[in-house]
Amino acid sequence: MSKTPVTVIGLGPMGRAMVDAFLTAGHPVTVWNRTASRADDLVARGATRAATVREALLANELVVLSLTDYDAMYAILEPATDALAGRVLVNLSSDTPARSRAGAEWAAGHGARYLTGGVQVPPSGIGSPESSTFYSGPKEVFEAHQATLRVLTGTDYRGEDPGLAPLYYQIGMDMFWTALTSWVHAVAVARANGISAADLLPQATETLGGLPQFLEFYTPRIDAGEHPGDVDRLAMGVASIEHVVHTAEDSGVDPSLPAAVLEVFRRGAEAGHGGDSLTSLVEVFGRKAG
Ligand code: NDP
Repeated sequence: MSKTPVTVIGLGPMGRAMVDAFLTAGHPVTVWNRTASRADDLVARGATRAATVREALLANELVVLSLTDYDAMYAILEPATDALAGRVLVNLSSDTPARSRAGAEWAAGHGARYLTGGVQVPPSGIGSPESSTFYSGPKEVFEAHQATLRVLTGTDYRGEDPGLAPLYYQIGMDMFWTALTSWVHAVAVARANGISAADLLPQATETLGGLPQFLEFYTPRIDAGEHPGDVDRLAMGVASIEHVVHTAEDSGVDPSLPAAVLEVFRRGAEAGHGGDSLTSLVEVFGRKAG
């Protein structure tokens, strides 16, 4: 059976990996990128270079967008909206759920069907079925193109609301960026004290690798709205993170990261949660958001 032809717009590291995966799987691929030279090696591998965005859109029904954000999408597609009718746009560019919902409406207004996606792996994970991408949007559109999208990564459909894939993606990035930066900060404190990143690696792996047991322990309590201080108390957390802040300061390291955590812990304690678990912060954060 002939493979579905695909257009890929956006040839950053991610889009390039996607084109590579489609070509490897035997899909005809048309490409367009603002900086045209980024397509050169892909064209040498068999991709077709579209001279214009309009040409790229008209080449195929299925169009994958891999761009920095939604501003880039509008910058690229606004001048060619007449070519959007009948296309299926799969936007794998990161942005907020609200901007993604607005983008879906905008595309529908121009006659395109639209899926949002949040890729959960770096470019090296593209082409691997063990990797995963969140998708959301009309179910029948997702199902019609799932087999082709599986060439990129495994697919994790989250629902009809186009905001869902970016929501799950951004929740993931919330954990990823803050957790990874906590490690970078710890490495800075270690290095200031003559301990290399390599020396720290076993401890870092054990500490961060041990987090799942905390998540599993606390999750049912959070969902039950219970934050008993039987295992940890926020007041203890305040004292503990103060020690972390002072250790960073004494080491000549910028303490702003643990200091931000200290500020939130203190706010929680002042709100009356000093005797509760740190998980009570979920209420403190929630109030701030509301
Ligand atoms: P890049 O930011 O490197 O990709 C940029 C692409 O967007 C390029 O094709 C660039 O064109 C284009 N672009 C940006 N701004 C404009 C504009 N104003 N007008 C026209 N084109 C524009 O991102 P990646 O390739 O790394 O990632 C793509 C998406 O995937 C992002 O949303 C990212 O958050 C997400 N993602 C990335 C991961 C990663 O590890 N890289 C992991 C998971 C998700 P040009 O080449 O001309 O600059």
